[in-house]
Amino acid sequence: MTLALEAKSVVKQYPVGSGTVTAVDGASFRLQPGEFVALVGPSGSGKTTMLAILATLLAPTSGSIVIGGQDLADMSQKERTRFRRRNIGFTFQDNNLVSYLTALENVELMLRLNGEFNAAGRKRARELLALLGLEERMNVLPRQLSGGQQQRVAIARSLINRPTLLLADEPTASLDTERAIQVVETLASLVHEQGHAGIMVTHDLRMVEFADRIIHMLDGRVERIITPQDDLSCLADPAACRLITPDVLGIEASTAA
Ligand code: ADP
Ligand code: MG
Repeated sequence: MTLALEAKSVVKQYPVGSGTVTAVDGASFRLQPGEFVALVGPSGSGKTTMLAILATLLAPTSGSIVIGGQDLADMSQKERTRFRRRNIGFTFQDNNLVSYLTALENVELMLRLNGEFNAAGRKRARELLALLGLEERMNVLPRQLSGGQQQRVAIARSLINRPTLLLADEPTASLDTERAIQVVETLASLVHEQGHAGIMVTHDLRMVEFADRIIHMLDGRVERIITPQDDLSCLADPAACRLITPDVLGIEASTAA
């Protein structure tokens, strides 16, 4: 079966002053179709940079990215943009909602960009917003929504085109626990049901258990890939886990308790 995603020896260096910072330093991993993976690691370990590269928003300095069998390096800039619109759904920490469009219009915008703004698409936009608990707030502007509500609009927008690759950078950062679990469960089940692939960056121990595997990044490298088989006790009792420690998640021990 074709891999959903293959990242091979990805390196990303940013120019800083007269030198460079290596944000991603030879990261390699694969995702099978239907896999929902958590990307964890301390702040500065390269998670957001990696996600932006996978989203085709940033070109790697070296290494390759193959999504659904297609090598991003073989595409022109125009083809990559088109590929991104059709195949990749992403939410970054800064939601980038269009301020003068309502919640519903923000989601529908992605349909318009793909030339799929039809009755079925519009129905799906409403359904997604309702699924994310926004049925009463569809017709208001982003500034009239709380941070958590805006985040959920961005998540609906990332899902509207049924992306084969879903990328979410801390999707639960401004949500309360109940809502966070609901959102991550929704993401995981959509990925599983549709046989797509998803990567979620998180610092939240409670969200990690919804993932099929955990990719732990450290200093731009993949430090370790943790599967449930490695330590089944992680799923049953994260507090007793020897692999997924607060340190791995990049959170202070005191806040993880
Ligand atoms: P994470 O999301 O894990 O916190 P990032 O990918 O944001 O990590 O950052 C990885 C490293 O790259 C950090 O050292 C960060 O300071 C640096 N970095 C990120 N973006 C830039 C940029 N645009 N220019 C220069 N350095 C950057
Ligand atoms: Mg980050």
